Amino acid sequence: MGTGSGIPSKKRNPAAIWLQYESDCMLWDCGEGTQRQLMNAGLNFMKIGKIFISHWHADHWAGLIGLMQTMNLEKRKRALEIYGPEAERFVGDILDLDYWGPRFRVIGRDVPFEGNEPTQILNEDKFKVFSIPVEHTVPSVAYAFQEDDSWNVDIKKAEQLYGLKQGPLVGKLKEKGSIVLKGKKITLEEVGIHKPGIKLVYSGDTRPCKNLVTISKDADLLICDATFAEEMETKMHSGAKEAAIMAKKAGVRQLALTHFSRRYQDVRELEKEAKRAFPNTIVAEDFMRIKLKK
Ligand SMILES: [Zn+2]
Repeated sequence: MGTGSGIPSKKRNPAAIWLQYESDCMLWDCGEGTQRQLMNAGLNFMKIGKIFISHWHADHWAGLIGLMQTMNLEKRKRALEIYGPEAERFVGDILDLDYWGPRFRVIGRDVPFEGNEPTQILNEDKFKVFSIPVEHTVPSVAYAFQEDDSWNVDIKKAEQLYGLKQGPLVGKLKEKGSIVLKGKKITLEEVGIHKPGIKLVYSGDTRPCKNLVTISKDADLLICDATFAEEMETKMHSGAKEAAIMAKKAGVRQLALTHFSRRYQDVRELEKEAKRAFPNTIVAEDFMRIKLKK
């Protein structure tokens, strides 16, 4: 929804990513103007269950104020959870602004912003979300969405070997890992196809750091801060080339550069720099959609 940094431009809104997995809808960061971006994208913000804020710089959270007030006017009842470093405190501060009081619960959930290991912050039926501290001027974290691994049954093989046909027993085999049919034990290892889950990582704002490489290990997609070209690299952010080097180290499948400084109306220079280190790089644009499949 937003691929710019600090100051918005005509082409780029501040940071926000809509992540949808089956019926679960989440936001990762929520810069100013995110609710209108969602409307223009044809996405229903009432479906958002959880919002993950990478850090409390306004270009990553200022959209929360308007979004939450609209949710209230639209009579939201369902609780809204907001994750982030010191989220409880900041969410409390936001709720104290204005005369409004939401009719739905808003829950701030703190995530650790110190240490070198990923922390599991959410465990849902089919996926988990992890966070890890990254390096910025204020407490800042990266997030990883990790779909659980799953198994499919190779039904042809199962039928040939054991006479197992499509039906409730197949479901039981997937669930339990093994079943007994006509006195013979059938295991998932033997007739199953292992399907590793999809992994998606979002860096938030960070200078290059080891923790981001750690959490990005073997990700299908890394969406990474690439504020500047090489000549402008700073201690606050990753440059395009630095993002690419981290992508390479982590062995990710694809890299999407985002959070571009307003000085780059044309980001081809950044794309070129990144591709030299990591060819499978794309440049994110507002409203770009990426479908991840194994
Ligand atoms: Zn930022």
